Amino acid sequence: MTELHTEVQFLKGIGPRVAETLATKGIHTLEDLLYYLPFRYEDRINPRTIEQLQAGEMASVIAEVRTSGLFKTRNMPIFEMTAGQGRSKLKCLWFRGGYLEGKFKPGALVALYGKVEFSSFGRGGLQMLQPQFEILHEPDVEGDAPPESEEQKHFESLEIGRIVPIYEAAGKLNARWFRRTIRTALEQMPREVASTVAGNASLPAAGALADAIPAAIRGRMGLIARAEAFWHAHWPDAGESFADLQAARTPAHQRLIFEELFFLELGLELKRRNARMQSGIGFAISDQVRTALKRVLPFHPTQAQKRVLKDIADDMAQNSPMRRLLQGDVGSGKTIVAFEAATVAMENGYQVAMMAPTEILATQHYLSARRILEPAGYRVVLLTGSLEAEHKRAILGHLERGHAQMVIGTHALLQDKVEFERLGLVIVDEQHRFGVMQRMKLMRKNSEVQPDVLVMTATPIPRTLALTLYGDLDVSVIDELPPGRTPVSTKVVSDERAGEVWEFVRKTVSGGQQAYVVYPVIEENEKDTGLKAAIKMYDELRKKVFPELKLGLLHGRMSADEKDEMMRRFKGGEVHILVATTVIEVGVDVANASVMVIEHAERFGLSQMHQLRGRIGRGKAKSYCVLMTGGKISDEAQQRLDTMIRTSDGFEIAEKDLELRGPGEFFGTKQAGMPSLRVANLIRDRKLLELAKSEARGLVDGSTKEVTQEEKRIAVQYLKTHWNRRYGLVEVG
Ligand code: ADP
Ligand code: MG
Repeated sequence: MTELHTEVQFLKGIGPRVAETLATKGIHTLEDLLYYLPFRYEDRINPRTIEQLQAGEMASVIAEVRTSGLFKTRNMPIFEMTAGQGRSKLKCLWFRGGYLEGKFKPGALVALYGKVEFSSFGRGGLQMLQPQFEILHEPDVEGDAPPESEEQKHFESLEIGRIVPIYEAAGKLNARWFRRTIRTALEQMPREVASTVAGNASLPAAGALADAIPAAIRGRMGLIARAEAFWHAHWPDAGESFADLQAARTPAHQRLIFEELFFLELGLELKRRNARMQSGIGFAISDQVRTALKRVLPFHPTQAQKRVLKDIADDMAQNSPMRRLLQGDVGSGKTIVAFEAATVAMENGYQVAMMAPTEILATQHYLSARRILEPAGYRVVLLTGSLEAEHKRAILGHLERGHAQMVIGTHALLQDKVEFERLGLVIVDEQHRFGVMQRMKLMRKNSEVQPDVLVMTATPIPRTLALTLYGDLDVSVIDELPPGRTPVSTKVVSDERAGEVWEFVRKTVSGGQQAYVVYPVIEENEKDTGLKAAIKMYDELRKKVFPELKLGLLHGRMSADEKDEMMRRFKGGEVHILVATTVIEVGVDVANASVMVIEHAERFGLSQMHQLRGRIGRGKAKSYCVLMTGGKISDEAQQRLDTMIRTSDGFEIAEKDLELRGPGEFFGTKQAGMPSLRVANLIRDRKLLELAKSEARGLVDGSTKEVTQEEKRIAVQYLKTHWNRRYGLVEVG
């Protein structure tokens, strides 16, 4: 019998070539195919007559092709097709539609879907611009029409008179192909004899589409049976609410979405539990340690810092290894928290590795660590890629022999030759720049016990993403800024008013403060017209605008030494205005800088602007962020700018960013380990995600009592065979 993990190329009608095309959509198995849900539905139960159409609405119409042809206008070729029902006619236009020639044979039956508008061509009437279409029936050519097979008739009955699923095409495989293939696959699956609402544990398993979600959970969530859900999501009944279908809110959709989220969370929960069960280091929090902690602290911690410090100390005192994510907006004071955690480890005779994403940041942490930790007697070293070989060897020696208690570095720390005498704590700053794998690699640098891990991120991660991306970590949040900060005042200004902005910068500098001016690119690009670039503007600002001031330039193509030198000079006040690209985005700390001008702000991502803005507002002086726009502002760009003005709450900004860009783009790269979800959407389905999480947790920690051991075994087994491949949830046990 066909199993869900049967590869698609073994299905009827699918050869190796088609299988290859399907693979581009991530469809490898029968199950993948079933999960390839329609991206929309067309209501062809009662398709509108042309007479009923109204300008402005989205509508689907089934009509007969009358005439079609390509005509050339001054600007471009336009393909025109007129479809009719009796006397009524509807004109359809496709710009640059040359590829449509020969497609529409007079007399063919077509389904059209698109926006109805008043015709701007010819004699008025209504038209559809670039409608989606499907040819339902080629015209019967008298005499040589082959007799229709039963199968043909069966499929054609699927195209009209019902709600029809529309699938995203893949290469040459169009919506109709998917419709037929998936339909056939479904017909070959045993249809579960379940009542629609589950919760009926006594039901026999129904072959390949048996339910792996324990009955009690299905019951609580009101989930329909799995086989049922696949059928209805692909082939909704006539009575189904059309709006619910489009919004993926039908019971069938909800069931499939929950399932996906549930198994994802189950995987993460199992990972979490496994990590817990490994033996780690139980650090002692003795009086001696407490004294050291107090000695290290340069200021009174905020309430939020105290709270997360307690979370961390509690974790560290446990025998199981700490796996904690520390989230805190830029400037919320995560660094000192990390140093306190380091102190606990070092006082217990263990070493600490702290990894930062850039040399600038590593160096900055290193300098603070020396200032704060060395007076307390700990030896801190810096390890980056740009160190000279000899110096590097010496540092490696110190670490291996345990002469240095703490190392701060870039990903250079991950190299195999970096060895520790006794690594006890790993701190990873700005996590999303590193992959999960890198985190694990550092952890393995102690082969005897699992070191504790503290992951810090300044990008506030929306809860929904935190649950999926870091679902295996415990989370602490610093939601309070250190005292004495005045909120940054933010304005959007067109660069036509640059003169005023520069005057304002000049006043700020003469008042003893410093400023950043940020550009989206380093150099002008021949193709990219009109984008101001850091190098050129540095020259212009230095020579023409601020001849009397000291300007500095900082960008990603400078060597690490040059960058460090520039940061040092800016920090030391030798440089008044730092012209930079986004290299200053992460973590750079110069309290005396109180103005930030971002040019071409319309080009920057929301989280990115927020990070940049976080560089100011760190000192006593009132700070200003000027978002200068110079260029076309898209709708989305406008929303980004509005959000920046409305709020400085990192979480709110992150949520908005996620909403605007979608989870895939949110982190800029896929390497962050974002699972790709097939039916669930982290933004739309947040509520289900929370529920899935708590059900998964209940199942793993045993607090869900109604679930039998056998059901739990089935769920875990199912996860291993079906979802591991997809999510790469390695080492799920
Ligand atoms: P983050 O890494 O979270 O962006 P930092 O740790 O760099 O923030 O802290 C930002 C600034 O605030 C630093 O100059 C730091 O010394 C200062 N700071 C942190 N915590 C406090 C506090 N409790 N009281 C006063 N200043 C603090
Ligand atoms: Mg930081």
